[in-house]
Amino acid sequence: MRTLSNLLAVPLLLVLLLGCCHASGSTNETAARQWFEQFNSDLAVQRNLAVEAGWNYAVNITDENSRKRVEAELKLTEFLKLKRTEMQQFAWRNFTDKNLTRLFSKSDDIGTSVANATMQELYSSVKTRLATFYNTAKVKDPRSGEMVPLEPNIVAAMADPDVSQLVKRDFWVGWRDESGKKMKNDYEEFVRLGNAMIREAGYANLAEYWQSWYEPTSDFEQTMEKLWTEFKPYYSLLHAYVRSKLRPHFGSEIFPLTNHLPAHILGNMWAQSWANVDHLTMPYPESWTVDITKEMLRKGWNSTTMFRVSEEFFASLGLGNMTDKFWAKTVMDRLPNVEMNCHASAWDFYTNEGDFRVKQCTSVTLPYLATTHHEMGHIQYFMQYEKQPVPFRDGANPGFHEAVGDTIELAVMTPEHLVKIGLLNSTIDSNEYYVNYMFLMALKKLAFIPFGYLIDKWRWSVFKGEVTPQQYNSAWWKLRCDLQGISSPVPRSEDDFDPGAKYHVPGNTPYIRYFVSHFLQFQFYEALCNKSGHTGPLYKCDFYQSKEAGDALKKMLSAGSSKHWEDTLEELTGTREVSAAPLIRYFGPLFDFLTEANKNSSEPLTWSSECPGDDWYTSTTAPPSTTAPPPQTTTSGSSGRLAGATWLQLSMAALLGALLSTLLTR
Ligand SMILES: [Zn+2]
Repeated sequence: MRTLSNLLAVPLLLVLLLGCCHASGSTNETAARQWFEQFNSDLAVQRNLAVEAGWNYAVNITDENSRKRVEAELKLTEFLKLKRTEMQQFAWRNFTDKNLTRLFSKSDDIGTSVANATMQELYSSVKTRLATFYNTAKVKDPRSGEMVPLEPNIVAAMADPDVSQLVKRDFWVGWRDESGKKMKNDYEEFVRLGNAMIREAGYANLAEYWQSWYEPTSDFEQTMEKLWTEFKPYYSLLHAYVRSKLRPHFGSEIFPLTNHLPAHILGNMWAQSWANVDHLTMPYPESWTVDITKEMLRKGWNSTTMFRVSEEFFASLGLGNMTDKFWAKTVMDRLPNVEMNCHASAWDFYTNEGDFRVKQCTSVTLPYLATTHHEMGHIQYFMQYEKQPVPFRDGANPGFHEAVGDTIELAVMTPEHLVKIGLLNSTIDSNEYYVNYMFLMALKKLAFIPFGYLIDKWRWSVFKGEVTPQQYNSAWWKLRCDLQGISSPVPRSEDDFDPGAKYHVPGNTPYIRYFVSHFLQFQFYEALCNKSGHTGPLYKCDFYQSKEAGDALKKMLSAGSSKHWEDTLEELTGTREVSAAPLIRYFGPLFDFLTEANKNSSEPLTWSSECPGDDWYTSTTAPPSTTAPPPQTTTSGSSGRLAGATWLQLSMAALLGALLSTLLTR
């Protein structure tokens, strides 16, 4: 039977076919190349103006710099939209030169900028409100009653072994009350708008868009899940061991029967690094007596020394020194007499004259030595792919960019290398010594991995609508309990919005790159160690001064994003997959130690996939938190609009990084 829809189907199909295949664009590749050349040099200029304005604002937060920053950002957006329309004169998907198609494809990706001006304004405004909640949150210090910010006060208190777990618990709750809890309605609005805007660019939702940066050749989420599944048994070894050390110290009553680790006692607001509980958990405390931070101070190191040490490592591989502009313009220390944004970051200014800079408020400590290497890795990437066309001036995928500096850090932190740079007198060639060393690396790098995974796992399901606003917080905690094996110190409900208490969620910064980079950096490290001719245990490898390692690294970095990352990875490592195998090999002796140690403890290797029930919290002797304040009214609530200059100033934070290669720390 021919129904009305059958009758309509044939002409509709014809229209669709004609629409799809009618050669409305030119396939003249010579003309396309000419167009691209002009576009490429204009794009460099436009990006440069926007980055300059962004930098000026970041290192000197004033109303004027804020206004200039918004203007430059809007100008860039307009330019990108105009050029994207112009591009449509070419049927670039059908070019025979696939490199040219790739250049056009990357230029075509302008994200949510495709949407109309009204939506842009609404989107900016909601992102501004989210960023403002986070950036202006202050919490009552339970000890003094003073209102204090996250940095440096609360971060320092969470890290301090001398601060009681009750104070830490109050800070943990207070930070979430004052940041995430106020954002829930705005976050819902942000998801709705962002999805609507990205649909105009042809993506089903923001999750699909974010994942597209990895050019997935199979289901991206399945690939990430497979990595996690492979790694999880090793994480469990660390989890059980750390639990066996912390339980007697803090007392069993704060540990739920589900075998989760209480989130507030791990030395970090998000339990994303456990490095600050090293003194409580070190396998052989008597075999590790050197305090590297003290040693740096004793030797008179300053921020410049730290950047020079990092530069020297790259230079020893033959990758070249930092440029004169880098040294002239980098901000290594907090600037006097101005407001500045101190979140460490690396900047590419898109000139062809070596203008790359780091902005960092360095303190002379071991963690900052790692951060310095991390940021310098971004700078080296910028330097090596400087000659690529602008659309290829990017990491092979976002995880690559995050992994470069961390790879160097793995070599620099080896005791052998610390001796070479004068921070250790000598190494002790004992099993205990190296188990301690690997354990310190594990508290930082392995403890992070489930956290690096779950932030975007949560956001993907939110963007896809699989998690509704009524389930935002319970879905978040399901992942925190199940994957990370941590539990909240007090009951949580849908009145809370705990994802919002982590910078990258209100800041709209994708996070899975850090998960990917924690595997990639061990793949890069192992490959570079092999090139350098290293023999012996992987964790002892320092490929310092190896030209062979340097050449291989240089080749990978200089390709930028001109090729699919699987090709780039294969060239360096011989595999096309992100793999946990080198990481597992690196930590092998530590895993053996943990396996044995766990046999002698009563701690089980697993924890419940479900969070502790509310009944556990009511039966525990811990008193209820005293810092939860009554709901407050604010001038920038979810329906409020900020006026004039304030809006301009605040929107900077929200816009920052949307279109530019400004790379942040995790
Ligand atoms: Zn980074």
